[in-house]
Amino acid sequence: MEKTLIILKPDAIQRRLAGKILSRFEEKGFQIIGLKMIQITESAAKKHYAAHEGKDFFEPLVRYTSSSPVIVLALKGKNVVDIVRKMMGATFGSRAEPGTIRGDYAVSNRFNLIHGSDSPAAAENEINTFFRKEELLEYNPTDMQWVYDISTGQVI
Ligand code: UDP
Ligand code: MG
Repeated sequence: MEKTLIILKPDAIQRRLAGKILSRFEEKGFQIIGLKMIQITESAAKKHYAAHEGKDFFEPLVRYTSSSPVIVLALKGKNVVDIVRKMMGATFGSRAEPGTIRGDYAVSNRFNLIHGSDSPAAAENEINTFFRKEELLEYNPTDMQWVYDISTGQVI
């Protein structure tokens, strides 16, 4: 089972879309293993988006990310990193396909509601950055045998 780190960015909270976005991941079948509301500091935003340092959108991106509270969310599921990226849609709200989170709720090429880790390794790092160990909860989802076929001993 894979894990991913999601940030419901400041516009998602300000526009009261957090519940709708969270529902999509719950309805898909992913398990919430960590969730909290925080305000990301400027230095934490710079660290989180370090890969984009030097690009023309870096400073406004850091300002956006640290401008207002966010919800950080850790999800667990088979191939969750990849599936969440697909559910998010393309980076630019203007280009994201209808049916995706950004495609349905965002038009901006910066204010695009959501961050999702782009690889399992990044997810591991990001989860450990935003959550303390005791904030990540391990529990057995009661519907596991209906979300997946686990009757063969594999998760299908
Ligand atoms: N972004 C931006 N201008 C750009 C590209 C990206 O403001 O030209 C912002 C946007 O909020 C995006 C974030 O920077 O979500 C990180 O960019 P990345 O390419 O990693 O996109 P993502 O992984 O979020 O789809
Ligand atoms: Mg990215």
